[in-house]
Amino acid sequence: MHSAIQIYPTFIDMDNQSLHLEHLTQISRELSSAADLYSVSQSILKAVTDLTDSETASILELENGSQNLRFLASHPERKILITIPVPIDASIAGLAFRQKQTVSIRDVAESDQHFKNTDQVTGYKTRSLLACPILFRGEALGVIEAVNKKGMLDYNGDDATILEILAGQAALAIQNARLQTMIEKTQNEAIRLDKMKNDFIAITSHELRTPLGLILGHSFFLREMVDKKYYVQLDIIIKNAMRLKEIIENTSSVNNAQTGTAVVRRKTVSVRRLVLEIVETLRVEAKKKNISLDFDIDESDLIVDGDAEKIGISIFNIIKNAITFTNQDGHVVVVAEQVPGYVKVVVIDDGIGIPTKDIPHIFERFYQVESHLTRKHGGMGLGLSVAKMMVEMHGGRIWLESAEGKGSIFTTFFPLDSMQATAAEKIFAE
Ligand code: ADP
Repeated sequence: MHSAIQIYPTFIDMDNQSLHLEHLTQISRELSSAADLYSVSQSILKAVTDLTDSETASILELENGSQNLRFLASHPERKILITIPVPIDASIAGLAFRQKQTVSIRDVAESDQHFKNTDQVTGYKTRSLLACPILFRGEALGVIEAVNKKGMLDYNGDDATILEILAGQAALAIQNARLQTMIEKTQNEAIRLDKMKNDFIAITSHELRTPLGLILGHSFFLREMVDKKYYVQLDIIIKNAMRLKEIIENTSSVNNAQTGTAVVRRKTVSVRRLVLEIVETLRVEAKKKNISLDFDIDESDLIVDGDAEKIGISIFNIIKNAITFTNQDGHVVVVAEQVPGYVKVVVIDDGIGIPTKDIPHIFERFYQVESHLTRKHGGMGLGLSVAKMMVEMHGGRIWLESAEGKGSIFTTFFPLDSMQATAAEKIFAE
């Protein structure tokens, strides 16, 4: 027969209050600092032995996926305890755990619930024992035990109250540690998945580029060779292959910028020439909607020190959007000029505009004003985030002003040289 479960009335000796407070303050301090579970457990157990006048104390935690408790810490420390599993259904600690109540045993020799194996392994002789469940939101996480009250005395109501208070602290410490482990696991999983995604994008873009290049190359070749009556079909193939190319380039550009593998190959770039080329490329698109595509560009070459391809992609994406989101018979104007330290490119349209609530998010990856499922235009919501990344890689800046139903103005600043880019950071920061 095991001893009856005894719940003691709460009473704390006033003379001992300052000692209680000292211990509790120390434990609270450790709990709120980044102290690890081991240090907090040691403080809690020291408080248990001091305040209940016990020879030893220990914390046991439920072992994941088993019917055992495992020693988490003991005071004074006995490392060997860690190796001993304590069965929940055949131990005093297990009884407190199962019943979710504090259990006091005057002499374990009289209890058939006592788990003798621990004493056999450690050579320690347990006599009296006070075991309190460590509860968090009603769930038992483990047990805290005080062992052998000194002077051959029995544990009393004060001891039970003290142990219950300290069990509350142990619950917080264990829960904190569990949350910390969960956060670390989740973070590592997120990093692993992010790497898988990056690798997937890098590999697939690479693998898709070659066949797509061949499709485009041969389509252009055929267009030169075949009769005009097949132009319609060939142009559809070319247009859609170009669209695929654009998607692949945008996706891999974002990926490269994110993984830090994007490199800015600096050379002397004429922004004037770039803008003129892009405008000419997109003129066909504008013509289809009878949109007037005009430009107002400085006579000078507008030279910057940068990566022509990346600057080109950013300007292309912005002008392309201006045409896409402007209705039939609308207007798009591209202005490029030199201002002190920079080349400034502004794209103005009198299209559908962007609602005020969407403006702060417009450069985010995959952000689209209209839902992808209901919108009329294609696109993945990557064009502007790519443009922003490319501009910022050059130390430049991009922003927009827009009014719904009236149109949008996208402004980009490209620093004349890399040294200027650093200075630009300061100017823009002010
Ligand atoms: P997408 O490739 O889907 O167009 P972008 O990143 O280029 O993605 O643009 C994101 C969204 O911003 C677009 O889906 C569109 O809703 C809005 N947008 C971009 N440019 C304009 C513009 N000039 N006028 C109105 N809306 C625009």
